[in-house]
Amino acid sequence: MDLLQNHDITCPYCGEKNSLEIDCSSGSQEYIEDCQVCCRPINVFIDVDGIDVRLHVSHENE
Ligand SMILES: [Zn+2]
Repeated sequence: MDLLQNHDITCPYCGEKNSLEIDCSSGSQEYIEDCQVCCRPINVFIDVDGIDVRLHVSHENE
């Protein structure tokens, strides 16, 4: 089973796609990822259920 998955998120600031590599073996997590396009900090929430990954992103100040 491949525990590393690539997922796309949409930057909440500029609307561009960023691709993230997510390690499902670390379970649900939350961190800040700088947008690859506008460099602003995106809050990334990752909900991992087995190999099923749900992503949610928000502005830093939300
Ligand atoms: Zn951006």
